[in-house]
Amino acid sequence: MTRPARVVIDLDALRHNLSRVRELAPRARVMAILKADAYGHGIERAARALGSANAFGVACLEEAQQLRDAGVRKPVVLLEGPYSGAELPLISSLGLEIVIHHAFQLDLLESARLSRPAKAWLKVDTGMHRLGFDPDRTASAWRRLLECESVARSPRLMTHLALANQPGSAMTGEQLRVFDQICGKLPGERSIANSAAILSLPASHADWVRPGLMLYGVSPFDSGTGAEYGLQPVMALQSELISIRRLRRGDPVGYGANWRCPEDMDVGVVAAGYGDGFPRHASTGTPVMVCGRQSAIIGFASMDMLAVDLRGVPQARVGDAVELWGEARPIEDIARSAGTVPYEILCGVHKRLRFVEHGEAQDTVSM
Ligand SMILES: *Cc1c(COP(=O)(O)O)cnc(C)c1O
Repeated sequence: MTRPARVVIDLDALRHNLSRVRELAPRARVMAILKADAYGHGIERAARALGSANAFGVACLEEAQQLRDAGVRKPVVLLEGPYSGAELPLISSLGLEIVIHHAFQLDLLESARLSRPAKAWLKVDTGMHRLGFDPDRTASAWRRLLECESVARSPRLMTHLALANQPGSAMTGEQLRVFDQICGKLPGERSIANSAAILSLPASHADWVRPGLMLYGVSPFDSGTGAEYGLQPVMALQSELISIRRLRRGDPVGYGANWRCPEDMDVGVVAAGYGDGFPRHASTGTPVMVCGRQSAIIGFASMDMLAVDLRGVPQARVGDAVELWGEARPIEDIARSAGTVPYEILCGVHKRLRFVEHGEAQDTVSM
């Protein structure tokens, strides 16, 4: 016997979403972002399904190593570059590309002797003020990279947008202007766009786009869902009803005893909770699907279980299917109910869950 809670990953949807990126940005190459275990979907299976991407972006050496160990030979970019000089030999032997965002990394590279030079992306801070060189330091950093023996010619240029998920923002226009002004004088390929910019800002597509969330079928915007952009959700969190009980008007349900039955009613218990990564703050009223019908959560999720209102689902029986998020129940809505973003929920999906793959596992295109 296994616990009924499971994650279903639709690999065809993943491939479909990559093809949407290609339609939206036909002239750009695609760096598919696979950090945080491919936003919780599993980095190796995501890399397999996204075999036709031009490169993969990850957050750290461990993730890059995982890809190489799985046989991925295409370019892999460390989005935060080396964290220390100790990483450089492995970066070189694995043939990884590195983002250089800070002078300390230039120092590391200049004092290293690498067996083969690494391809580098110079990151410019055009206004987000997270990572990157100040615009007036960019030209000198670029020259240091160009002259460094540990770095392959010629460095590429990238920046990141702070407000791409709010289309039309003046800040985004200003970031594009600053990037253009800096890059105008330098050769090399450019990259700006994350999912939100791919979907809403063609002027940002440049030579490389860097889709993350949209590949997983999810909208990066504050309202709406991925379906509005022709995206298909890749992940579903499913489970089953493990109990149905008739409770009386006034009966409290669950920890805290805060929620009370407004009338005599059936209450179901689903085998899924925050121990699986279901957000505890998606509480009373958060919609879920029970036997293909809309139902809603009662109270807060506990570690392994949550309660649902079965007043609209009289046919429900123990063992019936529940979808916490997926095709019929967009994760964007769950995130809004929980006061967070779908990124956080996807990254928090617990590895104790069973992962089931749908769709062809093997892409014909080489990795
Ligand atoms: C995570 C990340 C992305 C992808 O962002 P999405 O909003 O998920 O598309 C792109 N670029 C960089 C540098 C990132 O760190």
